[in-house]
Amino acid sequence: MITYPFSYKRATNLAEAEALLAANPEAKLLAGGQTLIPTMKQRLANPSLLVDISGLRELSDIRSEGDRLVLGAAITHAEVARSADVRAAIPALAELASHIGDPAVRHLGTLGGSVANNDPAADYPAAVLGLNATLITARREIPADAFFTGMFETALEPDEILRAIAFPRPQRAAYAKFANPASRYAMVGVFVAQTAQGVRVAVTGAAPCVMRITAMERALDTRFSPEAISGITIAADGLNEDLHGSAEYRAHLVTVMASRAVKAALA
Ligand SMILES: Cc1cc2nc3c(=O)[nH]c(=O)nc-3n(C[C@H](O)[C@H](O)[C@H](O)COP(=O)(O)OP(=O)(O)OC[C@H]3O[C@@H](n4cnc5c(N)ncnc54)[C@H](O)[C@@H]3O)c2cc1C
Repeated sequence: MITYPFSYKRATNLAEAEALLAANPEAKLLAGGQTLIPTMKQRLANPSLLVDISGLRELSDIRSEGDRLVLGAAITHAEVARSADVRAAIPALAELASHIGDPAVRHLGTLGGSVANNDPAADYPAAVLGLNATLITARREIPADAFFTGMFETALEPDEILRAIAFPRPQRAAYAKFANPASRYAMVGVFVAQTAQGVRVAVTGAAPCVMRITAMERALDTRFSPEAISGITIAADGLNEDLHGSAEYRAHLVTVMASRAVKAALA
């Protein structure tokens, strides 16, 4: 059997984690391990060093900054789901977190790990893009529109740590997901947010990378109601296709889930 030896270091603070990553080009951050450990077991990743950032206090804050809610990258899905601050400011985000995977995944998986991983079927990317959030690292602030660059790809440099995500408070928002019955990942998930700057509609699960549907955004800017978008369909070309559903099925789900999200946002 081929073995892939690696070292493990639990960082005691962010500066140490950043120094370890900078000094070891083959190192990888370990948050909750919900993606990274299975990936290593399948021999799809071979890091020389795991730098454990789970529970780092500098990454575990939930705080309000003006009209933004700032969530640390190492916050678990369960913490987001039960946070009174998140429920008060952006209930749709807490609701989204409460439906990720199963209880074990929610208690270990993290906001930062999910967003940095950018799985095409992950839930958080839809909220980050739909809410026009800002992704904060030690080096810069990256707008959501520039962050998700492709399937499992983001604008983060290999040694750049996502510290926090700042979510502007919307006037209204909701997330509707058609979950894969086995994994609970999104077959299609649509996050709709109405803000003073306009409506944003972000879709996960349908395509290789989370995306916005501008035709729906324009229609909802004119009239924020499910009927305004129930006739807007998206092309199946380039959408995901697997044993769970065809591209045409996912295209259909986008319209259905977007209408449900608008209805939920109005409720
Ligand atoms: C059975 C199962 C069901 C699931 N169901 C769902 C679901 O329904 N919806 C959904 O959205 N997700 C689902 N997930 C994924 C889950 O939400 C995890 O959050 C996600 O896999 C990321 O895991 P993690 O936070 O433990 O990060 P890790 O696995 O530790 O890390 C993932 C990647 O992100 C990098 N990373 C971690 N933190 C940072 C950071 N702060 N800065 C930069 N890079 C970082 C790591 O180096 C690694 O490359 C599921 C997972 C499992 C195992």
